[in-house]
Amino acid sequence: MKFDLLIKGGEVVDPGGERSGRLDVAIKRDRIATLDRDIPVEAAFRVIDASGQYVTPGLIDLHTHVYHRATFWGINPDPVATRSGVTTWLDVGSAGAYNWPGFREYIARRAEARIYALLNISSIGLTATTGELANLDYCDVDLCCKLINLHRDMILGVKVRIDRNTLRDSGIEPLHRARAAADRCELPLMVHIGIGPPSLAEVLAHMRPGDILTHCFTGQTMRQIDEHGAILEAAKRAWDTGVIMDIGHGAGSFSFEVAEALMGAGHHPDVISSDIHQLSVNGPMFDLPTCLSKLLHLGMTFPEVIRAATARPAEVLGLQGQIGSLRPGALADVALFVIQEGRFPLYDIHMNMRESARLIRNTLTIINGRRLPAAPDDPPAPWIELSEEQRDLAARGHTPAAFAHNHS
Ligand SMILES: [Zn+2]
Repeated sequence: MKFDLLIKGGEVVDPGGERSGRLDVAIKRDRIATLDRDIPVEAAFRVIDASGQYVTPGLIDLHTHVYHRATFWGINPDPVATRSGVTTWLDVGSAGAYNWPGFREYIARRAEARIYALLNISSIGLTATTGELANLDYCDVDLCCKLINLHRDMILGVKVRIDRNTLRDSGIEPLHRARAAADRCELPLMVHIGIGPPSLAEVLAHMRPGDILTHCFTGQTMRQIDEHGAILEAAKRAWDTGVIMDIGHGAGSFSFEVAEALMGAGHHPDVISSDIHQLSVNGPMFDLPTCLSKLLHLGMTFPEVIRAATARPAEVLGLQGQIGSLRPGALADVALFVIQEGRFPLYDIHMNMRESARLIRNTLTIINGRRLPAAPDDPPAPWIELSEEQRDLAARGHTPAAFAHNHS
């Protein structure tokens, strides 16, 4: 038996598997066949030279928006997958009940990237920038559960955005309804936080172990720290009881000040996700490897940041064993990276800068045993205008393409 593909000479980092170190990775059809030292090149039809590079499982991005051309936020995932190593995309709430069939047919079925989703409790999803919960008519628990039960192969949980602008005069009622839908379907609930009211404590009172708090390092009013930088009591309880803490960087939700306070107190995020969308893809978020670089700079090790974007999100989604690891038998989703050394200015969403000595860059992406060809990003949606900060970043050479520079 000959392997289809051999990735040779790289440094394997697979925190969810049994083996790491200098190993060759052999792929047969769409599965990882074996990992071993010195597998001969004659054993495979095709060989990729990975020397000087890290070989990891394909990344799982737990917070993305890929309903492109039909919602305010969505981007086309495939061009970004090929340059970022993200092989599995969890779209969180771009679709609600009414626009789910379109998401499934026109986006997920046609993408090369592996796509799962959380269904928005709002039946109109994230068509517009905000306000999807302002009309409680759109918050239909029965309808949400009906769609979930028809599409359990792709829908892995419920999404709700809880902040002042999304709720308007609805109070906390949409959170009750999202909770009810998640409970009835026995799936996790992902809650987005931002600018209150309500308060963070009011939201956390409705969250359980296995639920996901996204934007966990937000610097907005629903932040986890008080004015002295100390963690709030309700937030500490959430960490201690097993609420999943997810970065969801995005365009409004990652603060170095909050990250440093929480990580300084020993609170490292469970999951590092991008919240990539039409605004954040133009910086300072850019892509998932850039997010990983920020957490690397803040003190996590390279295997720790890889775990937070592979094995840990796979567990959160109940997909461990299938994705997020290079164990033999797993789906052959693989990413290659280099860690560049130098002086790299990295910014949070408030444009506070930290100079990192290391930058993680993707060099190759393989999905289902197949190397994805490079493709240019889609142009921005017609309603997108770059902010002054984004234009300034671009003028200084910080563009999605520059951050994603492909080496191979
Ligand atoms: Zn989002």
